[in-house]
Amino acid sequence: MGEILVLVDHVDGVVRKTTTELLTIARRAGDPVAVFLGSGYDDAARQVLASYGATKVYVADAPELEEFLVAPKAEALAQAATACGAVAVLVTASAEGKEIAARLAVKLGSGVITDATDVAADLTTTQSVFAGGYTVAAQVPSGVAVIAVKPNAATPEPSPSSPAEEKLAVTISDSARRARIVARAPRAATGRPELTEAAIVVSGGRGTGGDFGPVEELADALGGAVGASRAAVDSGWYPHAYQVGQTGKTVSPQLYLAAGISGAIQHRAGMQTSKTIVAVNKDPEAPIFAMADFGVVGDLHTILPQVTAEVRKRK
Ligand code: FAD
Repeated sequence: MGEILVLVDHVDGVVRKTTTELLTIARRAGDPVAVFLGSGYDDAARQVLASYGATKVYVADAPELEEFLVAPKAEALAQAATACGAVAVLVTASAEGKEIAARLAVKLGSGVITDATDVAADLTTTQSVFAGGYTVAAQVPSGVAVIAVKPNAATPEPSPSSPAEEKLAVTISDSARRARIVARAPRAATGRPELTEAAIVVSGGRGTGGDFGPVEELADALGGAVGASRAAVDSGWYPHAYQVGQTGKTVSPQLYLAAGISGAIQHRAGMQTSKTIVAVNKDPEAPIFAMADFGVVGDLHTILPQVTAEVRKRK
């Protein structure tokens, strides 16, 4: 057992749920040490990290961490890993997290595993590849194991601790200052959870006929996020940011409900690791039923409002 670094995923200091998942996983394998990069570390952040068992928190607040794209974060994380002699580093498998992981592994002369859907106590990871055709068990054989873990890979389990805090003075090289952030455009708030982090995703496809109302209402009743197939996105019915699949986002929620989606391999590539899959489709031969845990044959415009009403009744 050694120290397992967990890169804190946060937005302006607000710690995301994925961090609590990583801390839960890290506790299986060793002592979780949280690394908070950038500004915004406050009592609320401290509280979350302490609630999920961080034994120590490194805070590095160099301006470069926010002024430039990922390279300074990889450098800072490498310095934190070296400072505490970490045996592994866990990051969230977001687009940014995976790039940080790759750069970090190069800096540490180590190996990287991305899109892990589970991590065992001996740091053996599970990955689902080739659109779900194979499940791979993999390990980084030597050095510091760098692992990017998909959101929802673990259920966060609280484990109160009193972590020591240490300011980390990081040195950012010139080569990490090559891509400056010139503007940030926050997406309009929907009040729904982030698609890749949501525990529940309700997605609509061509079968919606362009009316995402029933999909959104069910998502809201369940407290979930809305996703879309490429056919729906290409038709201009829903923004590309919500596309699930090979050329969209990869999601791995506890519950994925596909409404009016046929289940093409490129769509499956983005949602096949969901824990429970429910399909609503009027065609009993639709391929999505082959992978669904539960299926309803019928018109989504009839079924979804019924489900929404039932969910609301039980709340
Ligand atoms: P369809 O395949 O047309 O299926 C619609 C389904 O809705 C049918 O099964 C039908 O029975 C059902 N239906 C119709 N009306 C109703 C109703 N009233 N109630 C209930 N069910 C109804 N696709 C993605 O989704 N994501 C990707 O990232 C992606 N990337 C791709 C990348 C490449 C390189 C390529 C070639 C394709 C990609 N695709 C992707 C496209 C993919 O191949 C499919 O074309 C797409 O997923 C189909 O979307 P769909 O299931 O909504 O539509």
